[in-house]
This record gives sequence, C-alpha cells and structure tokens, in this order.
Amino acid sequence: MANFAIGVDLGGTNLRIAAVDEGGTLLEKVTTGTRVALGRDQVINDMCDAIRALSAKFQASRTMLGAGIGVPGIIDMETGLLRESPNLPGWEEYPVREEIERRLGAPVILENDANAAALGEKWLGAARDVNDMCILTLGTGVGGGLVLHGRIWHGMNGMAGEFGHMTVDPDGPRCNCGNTGCVEQFASATAVMRMAREAISSGTAPQLARAAGSDPEFSAKIVYNLAIQGDQPSRDIFRRVGWALGIAVGDLVNALNLPMYVIGGGVASAWEAFSPYMFEELQRRSMVYAATAPTPEARQPSMGVPAFPSKEKGTGAAAGVQPRGVGRKTIVTRALLGSDAGLYGAARLPMLGSDPAWD
Ligand SMILES: [Zn+2]
Repeated sequence: MANFAIGVDLGGTNLRIAAVDEGGTLLEKVTTGTRVALGRDQVINDMCDAIRALSAKFQASRTMLGAGIGVPGIIDMETGLLRESPNLPGWEEYPVREEIERRLGAPVILENDANAAALGEKWLGAARDVNDMCILTLGTGVGGGLVLHGRIWHGMNGMAGEFGHMTVDPDGPRCNCGNTGCVEQFASATAVMRMAREAISSGTAPQLARAAGSDPEFSAKIVYNLAIQGDQPSRDIFRRVGWALGIAVGDLVNALNLPMYVIGGGVASAWEAFSPYMFEELQRRSMVYAATAPTPEARQPSMGVPAFPSKEKGTGAAAGVQPRGVGRKTIVTRALLGSDAGLYGAARLPMLGSDPAWD
C-alpha cells in the first residue's frame, strides 16, 4: 500500500487534520474547532493528539512519511518561529515548530497556509498539469503562494508570495500591513463588506441596505447573490474586485510569465460576478497576457472546458499526458480543491523531502 503523510490546516477557527496517501487519496479527515481562547499550548496539544491518533491508525499497514502543517502567518523557515499571525493572537515569536516536535518526538514541516494551498492546487487541483504556478486566496485577507519547478518558492526568508499586499491603488484604503490600496483592500471578503457598507451609507444601495438591516448574517455571499440578481450597486462592488485582481494578476503575468494563475479562497465562489472585469483589466494592462491569452472558451478549465484541448479523446491533460502547446497560453482560473487545498498541500510537504537547491 502507498505511503502516507499527515497534513494539518491550523486556522483561526478550525483545526483540520488529514491522512493522505502518496497518490493523493484522502484516507481520513478530522475537523475540530481551534480552541484559541485556551491558549497556544492547548491548541498545540489538541493538534498533536490528533496527529498521533491518525498516524497510529494507518501506520500498521503503511509507512508514515511525516507531517506538514499549514499556519496562517509569516513563518521564519530557519527557526520555525511564527513572525506574525493576525488570526492566532499571542503566537508571535512563539517557537511553533519546536513545541510540536518536542511533543511528537519527530520533525515536522511548517508552511504558510497560502503557500500550502498553492502546493495543494499544484498537486491535485487546477494546476496539476503544470510545474510553475501561483495562487491568490481571497478570504478574510488575500494570501498568495508561488510554486516553481513543483516546489514552493520561499524567497530569502520565507516571505515570498505576499501577493495580497501588491499596490493596486496608491491612494486607496489603508491596509493592516501599513501600505495603502493593497489588493486585499479590494478583493477580500472584508473588502467586499467594507464596500457594501460604503454603498449603503451613500444612500444609493437600497437593496443592500435592506439585506443588511434584515439579515443578521449579512455577508459577502449575500452581496454576491444580489449582484447575480442584477442589483447594480452589488455588481459594482464585484466590478472593483475584478478590477483589482486584473491589475494584480496582470503584474504577476508580466513579471513571471507562468502558465497558470489560480484564484482560490471563499470569495472565488463569486467568480461569475468578478471574473469578466478581471479578464478585461488583464487584457488591457498586461501585454504578456494579451499576447498569450487563450480564447474565452478555453479560459476556464474548471468550468468544464479543458485548459489544453486535445484532439484525441482520453488523452491530454485529464489523462496526465501533456499535449503539445502546454505552457504557451496563460491560464487564469478558479481553484478546484476549495478549503481542502491547504490540507492536501500540507500533507504533500513531507512527500517532497528537502531539495537543497530550492529550500
Ligand atoms: Zn497590505
């Protein structure tokens, strides 16, 4: 039987742990709440208990390759310290890796959660047929990850891939990072809600105002539903989401010339509402995109059209055989694995082992 590894997605709300085999088959997944309020030691204890329980279950019949852990925040790859983590208050400068390894008695691999999501989509998701790709995850904030030659690109000290903090409007709203007008200020769920509130207080968005007043669960998803129903102020919000993403992805396309750019995270579900504007902006702003754009029908492999159309049925990307021409078009598409991308990516880390050329 195939070897397996444990992947962990340590979120500010949920702690998810999975056993995944080398072929990418999910053996078992456990989800619990992250007991952040009880302190970091309790969270680490919960995590280590679950890792031990899951690995014991499959170790009788398979070889355990290790554990990879996706953490929200900036990790110092050398020391395993968490430098910054808005969703895990009080964890700054905490030696996360050391504490986990002490409890488990085995080495683990820590990774930024968006980097783990990038690796997950590269392994089993939208980017499984390319070696170089990047992802933007649109959630509470906007995360990013870059995979080159099948491996995460960390940069000098693990801080590469902060695409959410690329400037798209120098005079835009202030961002938590200190800059103004970051992508995150236009394309995150938080930004959608801010723009909705701004529209409501301007008095020009009666439907949004009604929804906000009557629904205690008023969220980016409700703004999306209104946009799809044709409400103009809601559509304008997603036009700005698409505009900001188009600028940011256009810069990435010009800088990197990768074959694939993946948009993931919860807000990516609003693809229908923002992507036409994103593609418009991309076409206008990136000469590299304009020169390498696929036809609109071939743009979206996740929507049922193969990214790399093959003449023969049963071959091509789906069958794992790369047809000629792969990499010649720039594909910008939705993530396929949803919230599991980071979990699969984390499990993939111990399988890749270390490569001194890249780590
Ligand atoms: Zn920022």
